[in-house]
Amino acid sequence: EAKAAGRNRATVFEEHMNELLQLQHTIEAELREALETREHLSIGYQPLVDQKSRRVVGAEALARWNHPKYGQISPARFIPIAETSGLIGRLGEHVLRRACELGATAPGYTMAVNISPMQLRSPDFATRVFDILHETGMRTEDLELEITESILLDDEHISSQNLLTFRAAGIHIALDDFGTGYSSLSYLKRYPVDRIKIDRSFVSQLATGHVSVAITQALVTLAHAMNIHVTAEGVETAEQARILGELGCNTLQGFLFSGAVDEATIRAVFDQPDNLPQRRRRPGRVA
Ligand code: C2E
Ligand code: MG
Ligand code: MG
Ligand code: MG
Repeated sequence: EAKAAGRNRATVFEEHMNELLQLQHTIEAELREALETREHLSIGYQPLVDQKSRRVVGAEALARWNHPKYGQISPARFIPIAETSGLIGRLGEHVLRRACELGATAPGYTMAVNISPMQLRSPDFATRVFDILHETGMRTEDLELEITESILLDDEHISSQNLLTFRAAGIHIALDDFGTGYSSLSYLKRYPVDRIKIDRSFVSQLATGHVSVAITQALVTLAHAMNIHVTAEGVETAEQARILGELGCNTLQGFLFSGAVDEATIRAVFDQPDNLPQRRRRPGRVA
């Protein structure tokens, strides 16, 4: 009897695996179609807020997929599918182009775009980015590419070559989700970046944990010593914003200010005269 149950479990497992594989295939095909028709793909823009003035100084472009059957699918789910199915290049380029079209109409505002390690490893990636900047009329210095820490460990020649090319051209580089990976500030010497984005997991513990405060303080101090701008992501409470201000964080991003909004809404924010920064704040130049 036990044996039968075991065989049953194996069968059930196999059935589940098949179902999962089927679903993966279906979702891949649907993502490919969404990219072609662009009907259900959109981009949300989350404001970046200057810590001192509390003014909006830019936005991060975040991919959105409104699936006809499943509703909103998180990019945390569909970006990995795009990566394994070879669609990330086209998806990433779509987001970059749209963000640059918007950014071109709002000079002086930072437009941040997430870049997958796979994109950065592509030999023609830099050329593609420069083409898009040229075609859209986006200012080079307003574009910020967000990469994850894993890229710093990546000894791939092409990735580092692309990063150096971008920096030489005046495109800003931000290290996303900082502190979650093999965060080692020593890597920052090898691949200089303009900004680190302190991960939400530190920010969420600021009000309760002394360790998080100490770690964040250390990160800010070291980053500033290296002329690196510091953004805190996932700021949800006024208390967190206050502590981050005391710690000297330059820019804040989170639901306390705004989640990702649609293009029309972020345009309206950029167009508000009292939202125009008095002077352009540049990452790398830290007060
Ligand atoms: P990320 O780049 O770290 O983006 C920040 C994520 O945190 C976003 O989730 C944003 O909606 C969310 N968030 C912002 N403020 C708060 C807050 O106060 N509280 C909480 N709980 N969450 C907050 P989202 O949009 O689901 O994106 C998830 C991840 O997917 C992004 O993390 C990024 O790594 C990736 N991603 C999104 N769009 C793209 C894209 O176009 N290309 C690539 N390669 N990756 C993308
Ligand atoms: Mg990001
Ligand atoms: Mg982030
Ligand atoms: Mg994150």
